[in-house]
Amino acid sequence: MQNDIRAELIKQFPAEVVEIMDAVGTTCYICPTCKRVVALKNDKCESCGQVLSWSYIRQSEAAKGMRTATLKFEVASDFVQGDCRKCPLSYIAKENNESVYQCPLKMRTNCKLEIF
Ligand SMILES: [Zn+2]
Repeated sequence: MQNDIRAELIKQFPAEVVEIMDAVGTTCYICPTCKRVVALKNDKCESCGQVLSWSYIRQSEAAKGMRTATLKFEVASDFVQGDCRKCPLSYIAKENNESVYQCPLKMRTNCKLEIF
């Protein structure tokens, strides 16, 4: 059997898409055969024709299923959003030999705390 026909046949067997994270932290899915990005839930790779399977991703999505948690805590009366220095959640970390306040929720420049 010719190699390219063989390769085409192999692509008929569903292959699990690969979940990756891009530079800005967005989840992308790539074709395991040609490594190109595939659109979510596509059943076939548009670049190379690989038949795709999403069953593992579906499982991990369900397991990861994001929920929202709320925690109420007290802050100083003069606390304003984004003031990590006064936030009880922040912790001190070393960055380039300097101590900086770090947000455990990674919201340092995008504070989502609601003040009541
Ligand atoms: Zn492909």
